[in-house]
Amino acid sequence: MDNNEVLRKLPKIDQVLNDQRLVAVFEDVPREVVVDAVRKSVDEMRKDMLAGKETDAESIFERVEKLVKKTGTKSLRRVINATGVIIHTNLGRSVLPEDACRNASFVSTGYSSLEYNLKKGTRGSRHDHIEPLIKRITGAEAAMAVNNNAAATLLCLAAISGEKETIVSRGELVEIGGSFRIPDIMDISRARLVEVGTTNKTKINDYKKALTRDSAMILKVHKSNYAIVGFTDETELEELVGLGKKAGLPVAYDMGSGLIADLSEYGIREANVENVLKTGIDMVFFSGDKLLGGPQAGIIAGRKKYIDKMKEHPLARALRIDKMTAAAMEAVLYEYLDEENAVKKIPVLKMITDSEKELEKKAKKCAEKIKEALKENEGFHISVQPSENRIGGGTTPLTILPGFAVVIGHNEITPEKTEKSLRANSIPVIARIHKESVNIEMRTVTEEETDIIAETLKSIYGGEDE
Ligand SMILES: *Cc1c(COP(=O)(O)O)cnc(C)c1O
Repeated sequence: MDNNEVLRKLPKIDQVLNDQRLVAVFEDVPREVVVDAVRKSVDEMRKDMLAGKETDAESIFERVEKLVKKTGTKSLRRVINATGVIIHTNLGRSVLPEDACRNASFVSTGYSSLEYNLKKGTRGSRHDHIEPLIKRITGAEAAMAVNNNAAATLLCLAAISGEKETIVSRGELVEIGGSFRIPDIMDISRARLVEVGTTNKTKINDYKKALTRDSAMILKVHKSNYAIVGFTDETELEELVGLGKKAGLPVAYDMGSGLIADLSEYGIREANVENVLKTGIDMVFFSGDKLLGGPQAGIIAGRKKYIDKMKEHPLARALRIDKMTAAAMEAVLYEYLDEENAVKKIPVLKMITDSEKELEKKAKKCAEKIKEALKENEGFHISVQPSENRIGGGTTPLTILPGFAVVIGHNEITPEKTEKSLRANSIPVIARIHKESVNIEMRTVTEEETDIIAETLKSIYGGEDE
């Protein structure tokens, strides 16, 4: 075909745009996206024609629809986490209870009492919604919430240490997820870091020796994502609190994970907020979306005089949480008023405490569904196998939860291909490749999601031409 012939045969952009067949595509997609897709599709078609490929002008509609589906979907999407890592940092960390999301939606689709005192009819404080609950659940004298735990750390250092010295053990100068490093945060806060002890051993005397007239605070940081084993020594919290009292200095603890429920019967040995506060420590802070199982936030709890100082600091405004987070957080904290209930209703806790037996049952059911979905396709071997799961999110680095996985192998189709196809689904399924098979971990998928996984596999491999 020469250029003129191609131009004659090529569909006109305006005509395509006004065609009834595209109206369905238009419906919930911005016009810009459709116009873009039509331009690109016509362009592609021109190239195909010039290259001498057999091209049907009518196929333009199919091309446009495919492209809109690919580019018109939102970037931030719901995915299915089949990795077995519960607080998956790349997959949005904690899964929220539906009640919490409903509350966020209800409060935000209209006006709200975010900073309004309904009793008095006057200005209120956004702290008033969450603070009473945190106090009640943890026994703290006062509390507040900020954007995340990094923000909580920054605010505490800036407001309580200021430009004076904060003493930290060399074994606790942690880095979380690449960008949160205690020394860097201290730098930004302008607090002066005084490192004491060694990587593996820090004794109470090391802290004592570091005290000067310029000391403002002692900070302990949770070893969230690593463990120091072997020849080690870590100062007990009680000793630090005692030293702080004697020296007249506040002691703060960056707890990281924020465990509120007691999970010791499930083998989770992580300090819980209430017990830490019972040592008489002045302040603790922790993430809202790790073991607490709520929205992204940093919660600070402790003595009122310090919390007040933080609430009044100019940074508090920059780091504050918004109403959707406040609403979701209030709903999650509400569940903790009844702890047994919390373990069932907060998805993160439910996933952590799901028993091997339940997981095995779910795996067997899921394997049956997948076998049924792939029955037309010979070469697949589907089995249920015990596996190892982790809590993740930079928490409990040494805890391995016994899990169960549906293991999908094939004689010829590589696991990489299956993993990639699952990931390309309209609801992407994120699975793990392990020993030449694709593993679908049961701990992090719901029963309904196993249906979606089976349907997805059917749509990839169910056809006869595979
Ligand atoms: C996770 C963690 C942080 C960072 O918390 P974000 O909520 O992600 O900002 C800080 N300190 C410790 C010890 C942590 O475990």
